[in-house]
Amino acid sequence: MSDGLKLQGGCHCGAVQITVATPPAEVLRCNCSLCRKTGWRGGYWHPDQVTITADPDAQNAYVQGHESITLWNCKTCGSQTHWTPLTAPPDRMGVNMRMFDVADWQHLPVRDVDGASG
Ligand SMILES: [Zn+2]
Repeated sequence: MSDGLKLQGGCHCGAVQITVATPPAEVLRCNCSLCRKTGWRGGYWHPDQVTITADPDAQNAYVQGHESITLWNCKTCGSQTHWTPLTAPPDRMGVNMRMFDVADWQHLPVRDVDGASG
């Protein structure tokens, strides 16, 4: 549910809660193998804008083959919640828009990203 500009959401079972300060300007629809298989819809923020609330043991970390990001998922329900960068400075992180109420983001512009060729 929204609270002003903030978006609040979380994984399916509720173990991982996510708050972002503002809606993203756009939603990214990437065609890389991971995004295709997980149904990911991405929003990007500076890490200062994102609050992840979860028990440290509640999440699994998956590092993709190219080792530039860590993809986090909930150990209990398996929801792919967000990714964090392994590269410094960590000026951008991503949240799966599917963790938010669809009414909060379905009106936003969608941009196709060719992650499969990258
Ligand atoms: Zn969960």
